[in-house]
This record gives sequence, C-alpha cells and structure tokens, in this order.
Amino acid sequence: MRKISLIGGGQAGLLLGFALLDKGYAVTLYTDRSPEQVLNSRIPSTAFLFNSSLQFERELGLNFWEDVVPYGEGMHVDFRGPDGRIGLTVQGRLGELKGQALDQRTKFSRWMREFSQRGGKLVIQSVSVADLERIAADSDLTMVAAGKGPINAFFERDEVRSAHSTPPRHLAALLLTGPQLMGDRPWARVPFRPLRFNFVAGVGEFFSLPFYTHTRGECRSFLFEAIPGGPMDRFQAARDGHELLEIARAVVADFAPDDLHHLDGAELTDEDAWLKGSFLPTVRKPVGRLPGGGLVMAIGDTAVLNDPIAGQGANNAVRMVRYLAERIQAQGQRAFDADWMQDVFETFWNESAVFTTGFTNALLLPPGEPVMEVLGAASVHPPVADAFMRCFDNPRNYFPWITDVSLARAFVAERTVRDAA
Ligand SMILES: Cc1cc2nc3c(=O)[nH]c(=O)nc-3n(C[C@H](O)[C@H](O)[C@H](O)COP(=O)(O)OP(=O)(O)OC[C@H]3O[C@@H](n4cnc5c(N)ncnc54)[C@H](O)[C@@H]3O)c2cc1C
Repeated sequence: MRKISLIGGGQAGLLLGFALLDKGYAVTLYTDRSPEQVLNSRIPSTAFLFNSSLQFERELGLNFWEDVVPYGEGMHVDFRGPDGRIGLTVQGRLGELKGQALDQRTKFSRWMREFSQRGGKLVIQSVSVADLERIAADSDLTMVAAGKGPINAFFERDEVRSAHSTPPRHLAALLLTGPQLMGDRPWARVPFRPLRFNFVAGVGEFFSLPFYTHTRGECRSFLFEAIPGGPMDRFQAARDGHELLEIARAVVADFAPDDLHHLDGAELTDEDAWLKGSFLPTVRKPVGRLPGGGLVMAIGDTAVLNDPIAGQGANNAVRMVRYLAERIQAQGQRAFDADWMQDVFETFWNESAVFTTGFTNALLLPPGEPVMEVLGAASVHPPVADAFMRCFDNPRNYFPWITDVSLARAFVAERTVRDAA
C-alpha cells in the first residue's frame, strides 16, 4: 500500500486525506493542533463554499452539516461612492450553485476525528523542515498543506505569478447573531437569503454571509477588507471582538448607512468569533527540495494564497484536491518525482488556479471596462446578473470575457437575447 504524508489539518490537507483513504492509500496527517484545540480557538476564516466544492465533500460523505447550515442563495451587491452613496446595484441568484459557509473550527475538529475513524493516522505535531526530512524519507509522497503557516517560506515565491508585494487589504472578520440578521429574507429588498456585498470605491469592501457555527447555530459572518491607510482601515488596533464590533458599526454607519439597522442588537456568537490582520497573497513554486535530498510538494494556500475578497481560497483548495487525488491514483506504482510534482501543479495552474488568482486580483482593483459593461447590464437584466454570480462557482468562467470589452458585450448579448426569446 503506498504511503502518503500530509502536513496541515485544514481544507486542503484533511480533504485530500479523505480522498486518498477512499482510494486505498495509507495516509498520515500531521497537524499542529488537536480537535479540542481547534474547536476552542479563534476563527481562522469565514469561508463560503460554492456548490461544486460542496459536491466533492458530499461525494466523500463529509458534508455532515448539509441540513443545518443556511444556504447562500445569491449575491446582492451595492457599488458605492466613497461617501457611501449607492451608484449601482446588482442582484443575482446562484440557483443550484448555491453554497454554504461553515465555521472551520466546527468542520476541521469534526473532520479530524472522522479521519482517524476512517483509518487515517493523525499525528498532532507542529512540523519543522527537519521533521519534513524524516517524514519524506519514510513516505512515497509528502504534501504540505500548512495554509499561511510559516513553514511555507520553505517553498520559493514565484515572482512572475505573485502580483502583490504588500498586503492589498487589512482584514477584520466577525461572526454575529442578532434579531435583524437571521432568517430566510434578512434584507427586505432581496427576495432570497443573500451573500451581501458592499464595494466602496477607494475605501474597501465588506461582506456578510449566512453562516453556521457550533457555538450558536445559524449566524452571519462579516468580513471587512480595508484598503491600507484608507478611511475604513480602523480595525487593527482592536483588542477583542467587542471592540471590533463597535468599529464595524461605525464603518457600516459611514459607508452603508442603509445596512446599519441589521446590526441592532447584534452580538458575537462567542468570545473567539473574530479575527484581524493582513497577509501577502503569494504563489509559490510547488516543489520543495529538502537539504537531505527529499522532495515535498506545496498544495492549498501553501501553493496559491489569494486575498479572500473573491471567496476562493477554500474553493481553490477543493478543486486542487479533486485534481490531485486523480493524478496520484493515475501515477500507479511510479515514483512521485519532481517532474511529476511540477507537471501536476502546472496543469492545475493553467486549467484552474490562474483564473481564480486572476479573478481575485481583478476584484482588488477598480472594475475595468469589460466588467463595468457586464455589471451595468446585470443591474437591469436579471439573467446577466445570475450568470455573473454563477461564475463564482468556477472563476474559469469569467475568462476570457473579463479581459476584453467586445467579449463582455457578447456575454451580455447572449444572456439578454436568450432571455427575450
Ligand atoms: C477572513 C477570511 C475569509 C475567507 N473567506 C473565504 C471564502 O468565503 N471562501 C473561500 O473559499 N475561502 C475563503 N478564505 C480562504 C480559506 O479559508 C483558505 O483558503 C483555506 O482554508 C485554505 O485551506 P488550506 O488547507 O490550504 O489551509 P488552512 O485551512 O489554513 O489549513 C492549514 C492547517 O495547517 C496547520 N499548520 C500550519 N503550519 C503547520 C505546521 N508547521 N505543522 C503542522 N500543521 C500546520 C494549521 O494549523 C491549519 O490547521 C477566507 C480566508 C480568510 C482569512
């Protein structure tokens, strides 16, 4: 039986672990915290998964929360001026591509227990480069899915594919419950349960998603993406979640006052339901050569780390895991050498991650002409809005029209003509 070692018990490491157990591999997963520690830690993320990602988890029998996590059924987006005034509104439905957002503390702690029950070997250990040497020598294949962990620095930054030299946003996130937030139709002007987006020109963005956590059940996440040094960049001095919530109220009052009443009576779901900070989006070279000659491969955020503005990091990890599991199986008894690792990553990059990264980086900039063309049409033609939002499920579908105004016009024409017919 071929032996595969994975470092990191997050979206990429755990999911790949399950996919490989399913295919009959002997899988050891090293991760730095026990299920109890994960459950009782601060939230690491507010990740929303679109249907294609959820579907892969369902296929592996892992969406234990299907019936309790509220679905995000579509997006309601206001594009605002720096004074908060709405310039353009776009509202689109995801249809069957609707998704769910689940507290990663809830998910990963449960998945870690499940991993052991399905025959995986779980080792609680913070892995160092020296440990990697020993692990790789004892395994047919070793993959590092350590997210944003500092061990990532072992993999060289790809200067050509990494678009940023400083963090593009300063982040803050909260899980909130409150009388004006929950339910099927929390926003009166939206006829479905929305992912609520506000884009404020020159200031930043903030998002609220239907969410589920083990501490309170249904709730909503709030993610603030402040342009560094701008008028929304007020969160970083907060000492706890309560201070973060007060700043959040002030920011919403300043830039989306019509949304402020949603925060009436709102409170944190628990004392750990918040995060703040920033990070540098980075694409890394996938093959790591250890001093002793062993090889390890970067996957998930360790390989492709994007800003959360487009909600793609965990979705990208799922797409990557699905592809990796196929390629590992297709390799049969042959060696997982550097050429194989390079080829697997290059193919995934060219077929998927390049689009995810390109779309994410585009959202961090003022919308270009092709996007404005489509958003303008989407604001008056629901089928165009639906088509635009549904591309979030697989950002490859934003290309090539997102880069070319005549193709963007064709994208609009196709949907409006189809609708008229
Ligand atoms: C605020 C915020 C909002 C987000 N929203 C979305 C969203 O809406 N949709 C979406 O798709 N994505 C979103 N993301 C991104 C998403 O959370 C990540 O892309 C995803 O979790 C990456 O999975 P991963 O397995 O690569 O890393 P992680 O899930 O971070 O897992 C890494 C694991 O490795 C462990 N580890 C680290 N170092 C070591 C070590 N040396 N030894 C052992 N273990 C180690 C860590 O403890 C962790 O358990 C968001 C991120 C943030 C910060």
